[in-house]
Amino acid sequence: MNLFACAQQNRYKETHEISQLKVVFLDNQSLQEIWESKTGKPSTQFQPWLRGDLAAVKTVRGFYDFSTETLYCPKWNYEVCGHELHHAALGHFHPNN
Ligand SMILES: [Zn+2]
Repeated sequence: MNLFACAQQNRYKETHEISQLKVVFLDNQSLQEIWESKTGKPSTQFQPWLRGDLAAVKTVRGFYDFSTETLYCPKWNYEVCGHELHHAALGHFHPNN
């Protein structure tokens, strides 16, 4: 209930019209190859942390190409490219609706 009250205080409505968006779903390896060919940068980078001796490997999981207005995403990965975006691209895909 606290969450609900908080959400009520922060109501918003933000409309974005996207007229030319192209969505490309593809496997991670293909996505990383396209990223590398478009940017000339490696899709996986070793990232040393600023302090401490921890490090991380960061891999490109999805990206938007502004020049072609194209979104590259792994299919069914809602964390990267949103459940509702899948509906926008694919229509109804739940078995019972
Ligand atoms: Zn759904």
